[in-house]
Amino acid sequence: MLDIDKIRAEFPILKREVNGKPLVYFDNAATSQTPQIVIDAIVDYYYNYNANIHRGVHTLSQEATDKYEEARLKIQKHFNAKKSFEVIFTSGTTHSINIVATGFASLLDKGDEIIVSALEHHSNIVPWQMLCERTGAILKVIPMNEEGELVMSAYDKILSDKTKLVFVNHVSNALGTINPIEEIIRKAHNVGAAVLIDGAQACPHIKPDVQKLDADFYVASAHKIYGPTGVGILYGKEEWLNKLPPYQGGGEMIKEVTFEKTTYADLPHKFEAGTPNICGGIAFGVALDYANSIGFDEIEKREMELLNYATKKLLAIDGLKIYGTSNNKTAVISFNIDKIHPYDIGTIVDKLGVAVRTGHHCTQPIMDFYKIPGTVRASFSFYNTKEEIDVLVNTVKKAKMMLS
Ligand SMILES: *Cc1c(COP(=O)(O)O)cnc(C)c1O
Repeated sequence: MLDIDKIRAEFPILKREVNGKPLVYFDNAATSQTPQIVIDAIVDYYYNYNANIHRGVHTLSQEATDKYEEARLKIQKHFNAKKSFEVIFTSGTTHSINIVATGFASLLDKGDEIIVSALEHHSNIVPWQMLCERTGAILKVIPMNEEGELVMSAYDKILSDKTKLVFVNHVSNALGTINPIEEIIRKAHNVGAAVLIDGAQACPHIKPDVQKLDADFYVASAHKIYGPTGVGILYGKEEWLNKLPPYQGGGEMIKEVTFEKTTYADLPHKFEAGTPNICGGIAFGVALDYANSIGFDEIEKREMELLNYATKKLLAIDGLKIYGTSNNKTAVISFNIDKIHPYDIGTIVDKLGVAVRTGHHCTQPIMDFYKIPGTVRASFSFYNTKEEIDVLVNTVKKAKMMLS
């Protein structure tokens, strides 16, 4: 059993008030909160060893380089990558996806096909549309059903030897659905296609094993896994990272530069042009240590309890409909009440101290599928409590009374 009082005491922000009420933070799917140990790592860096990495011979630079590379090793271990240089530091999931999408432009021919899913975040749709425009490749979509699950029989039909790439998120940020990525990857490999998994929403809840999954690429952002914003990773199999051209030119990513020709640095530096988010990378490693010290089995168990409790309580409200009802989902509840606009509910519950998200959650195609403008989304983390869910339910009831 987790000691929730002790855990909550480790997150300073959970003590604050909003509009005179204790904060109830249910926007974890947009960004998670940060424990003291991660905040301390950030402060320690700027207090004690702020310096540029990989270049200097002086002591501070070496200390910063060691810590940064130590973080890369922690990330390698967490995701079970075979080699540390298969872990590329980026500014986040969006940046990671763009590195792959831009790189594939040189590997695709006209008429090649790319498959994405109906459950994607905009950051996993737009780069592929841009890639198709540039290369003449064709974008195909795995459709979704009423429960918010991918229709796998339709995937079998659109998959062919023309398919070069498949891009699917591990967990949907709008609905919480956990997608059957093992099956998606296996079937893509049967036709020789590569697979990129967007793990941004899965990683706070699930510890992925990229070798066991056999993912060609896997991407994530630190800020959704109890770390800081502005840093994330691109994991890629060595053979794929070698095939892809660099994304940005600049310092750190070269071996030799003359005006005639530049040769690129070895992995991972080929994809890490310029001064990175050094402090962020180090803090990302500390955040993963923290999550592992709680344990992902414990995190999952706790979050499922909260999900089941909240689902039951919310469904008891007359006229409330939940979108995304798969049995296989993380602790996200997207809902609407009758014809009330989600924004109006979000505004009222915020006045009462409750942070939820409203809108299309960067997933307009999902909202179009359900023919709604958006939803109210409450997303839970292991540090949330049933008492907080009671506050949510009561504030939603109040909002409903005021608005209908
Ligand atoms: C948050 C999120 C992204 C974008 O992540 P950034 O950190 O904003 O780059 C992409 N995909 C999913 C599923 C997400 O939840």
